[in-house]
Amino acid sequence: MIDTHAHVHDHQYDEDRADTIARAHAAGVDTIVTIGTDLEDSERAIRTAESHGLLATIGIHPHEAKDAPEDIAAAFDALRAGAKAPIVAIGETGLDYHYNHSPAEEQRRVLRDQIAYARAAALPVVFHQREAFDDFVGILREQWDRKAMRGVIHCFSGNAAEATTFVEEFGMLLGIGGVLTFKTAEGLREAVRTVGLAPIVMETDCPYLAPVPYRGKRNEPAFVTESAGVVAKILNVDLAEVNAVTTATAKRFFGLR
Ligand SMILES: [Zn+2]
Ligand SMILES: [Zn+2]
Repeated sequence: MIDTHAHVHDHQYDEDRADTIARAHAAGVDTIVTIGTDLEDSERAIRTAESHGLLATIGIHPHEAKDAPEDIAAAFDALRAGAKAPIVAIGETGLDYHYNHSPAEEQRRVLRDQIAYARAAALPVVFHQREAFDDFVGILREQWDRKAMRGVIHCFSGNAAEATTFVEEFGMLLGIGGVLTFKTAEGLREAVRTVGLAPIVMETDCPYLAPVPYRGKRNEPAFVTESAGVVAKILNVDLAEVNAVTTATAKRFFGLR
């Protein structure tokens, strides 16, 4: 299996990172994508990927948009030039109007620049969207070319109509993780039933959003299997099929063999 969205370079793993990765391997999670959230964090993602055999992304999270450089492309070029681990996507990038840690105008500018960069670099995009659906979709309608680009809505937690828009109109994948296991997530489970297995990839977003029965604890890549189990249950298919199909989808998305 692939954990398509983790933050294994986070300081919360400084004491036991190698053990955490070993537990993932023991659980059948052989590939981990560790996701950058600003320039410094993306650099740490790359260094961690280099020393632990992971895949990395580089991106500027909407929370960090206020500190983004004017020339994001130059900063990303420099990160890629210095990387010995595979950089498999741009992001996470997007809009988050829940906390508004950065002004919305800055979030939109930084999102647009990262979509443009990903397109020029022929890399897929990892999106983070929270309480900004209309603005986010508006930017996609301006900039997204589903024939030329690949994208995933990470930690998708919307309803069936939103899922259908992302999948049908934009050809996006949906990253599904711990939220699916929460009692209150009936709307999300309905969304997964609506789109089916084909557009789904599995993720943890660790150290955040641990699935039941670990809810509230530090999350880790090994726990992605819990969320996959719920996908199997609600779609009424074998867990082995969920693992095989979502892994193949993730490999195509990130351009892996
Ligand atoms: Zn996120
Ligand atoms: Zn994340």
